[in-house]
Amino acid sequence: MVPRTLMSAEGSRGMRLRRESNRVVRDYCRPMRIGIVGGGIGGFSAALSLARSGHDVTVFERAAGLSEVGAGVQISPNAWRVLNWLGLGDEFAEIAVLPNRVVIRRWEDDSVIRATDLDAEITATWGLPLASAARTDLIELLGRAVAATPSVNVHYGRRVASVQPGDEQSAITFADGSQESFDAVVGADGIHSVVRPCVGGTDSARFSGSVAYRALVPRELVEDLPVETTNRVGPDCHVVSYFIGRNRSHLNLVCISPEDTWTTESWTEPGTLDDLRSRFVGWSPQLQSILERVQEPVFRWALYDREPIEQWGVGSTTLLGDACHPMLPFMAQGSCQAIEDAAVLGRCLADAEGPGMAHALRRYEAARRDRTAQVQTASFGNRDLFHMPDGQMQRDRDAFLSSGVGGMSMLDWVYAYDPVTASI
Ligand SMILES: Cc1cc2nc3c(=O)[nH]c(=O)nc-3n(C[C@H](O)[C@H](O)[C@H](O)COP(=O)(O)OP(=O)(O)OC[C@H]3O[C@@H](n4cnc5c(N)ncnc54)[C@H](O)[C@@H]3O)c2cc1C
Repeated sequence: MVPRTLMSAEGSRGMRLRRESNRVVRDYCRPMRIGIVGGGIGGFSAALSLARSGHDVTVFERAAGLSEVGAGVQISPNAWRVLNWLGLGDEFAEIAVLPNRVVIRRWEDDSVIRATDLDAEITATWGLPLASAARTDLIELLGRAVAATPSVNVHYGRRVASVQPGDEQSAITFADGSQESFDAVVGADGIHSVVRPCVGGTDSARFSGSVAYRALVPRELVEDLPVETTNRVGPDCHVVSYFIGRNRSHLNLVCISPEDTWTTESWTEPGTLDDLRSRFVGWSPQLQSILERVQEPVFRWALYDREPIEQWGVGSTTLLGDACHPMLPFMAQGSCQAIEDAAVLGRCLADAEGPGMAHALRRYEAARRDRTAQVQTASFGNRDLFHMPDGQMQRDRDAFLSSGVGGMSMLDWVYAYDPVTASI
């Protein structure tokens, strides 16, 4: 068989080694045609990872062009390792903001419950920092990398309706009724995935009882604030703020507040400043001062998640990112886990072809299921940890956090993981 690609970017796919009666035989492996549904952070990272393994990748994105909703994203060392592996680490460093400290503060008076130094503690422990970035900058970076990769094609304005998984080929059906078949299909189409029900997912996304107000404040209005990633925790609510954008152009503010139900069809809608401010009356003067500087538009996001699921795929179809493990944003890990998935998927499929694809996809799922379920569960648990009412339990929590007991090891299981070398 004549290979279409003799050498991949890594030089590992064109030629494959196999052992036959104690001798190594070199085979050419055929690149597989892989379709990815969704061109978000997960879908684009997967496209780059699969191309690195020598495959031909087509991404179908329903939006008309590069699009990212939401304002900021934190990228932790476990995901930054993948960006380095994809050759994007330096470019990411250019769009990333590195805070001096990561601080948890008490809602009423802004007193510090716990402060973690970025260089001396986070970078020193895990070799890479905890960065923040504008989501638009990150998706543009990934989009440029995808566009510069000859074996990846992106089709914008292509809405997928469903996927028909088969053992050796899976078909994608588009909203316009047309169909296309691939050796494998990856559903990276987010929390309201249309691929998920096609591989057996029957559950609905559940409303968490919290909404997130998201706002951006221009840097010139917040020059006096320290360059910190701050989590202000209080009864039923918490507020996360960090700088994002080239040259720290904006302060990104995410204010989480309770909401009984979410009835509108869309999961994001414009909110008002008055409503936002009214939810944080009595919080520290420092927070009031920041809220005074916020200008409309302010967006309200309904926060949904799902329970971890056992089955991510059928035959030559699988899921990735929020499509299979959507989580509350309370560990800032949703995108990071999607990026981790991408690296492990590419590694599992590096020498897979033909009927071996389904087996390689099950291997990917097995390598990712427990870890992502653990992060989903921990993110859910952080809601209770952050939102404790005033009282003894809250005082115990604060005493525990400020004592430094557990230190960096509390986050070690998340940040130390290396998707590029983890066993698969
Ligand atoms: C308030 C908030 C703060 C957050 N903060 C962080 C953070 O700091 N760090 C972090 O790591 N994560 C964070 N997250 C989580 C993160 O946003 C998600 O986990 C991440 O975006 C998931 O990426 P994804 O590519 O899997 O899905 P998505 O980003 O949802 O991308 C899915 C893509 O698929 C496309 N698509 C959907 N349906 C179709 C279809 N039928 N046909 C074709 N295309 C389709 C969509 O247009 C989209 O481009 C946060 C989330 C929220 C709500």
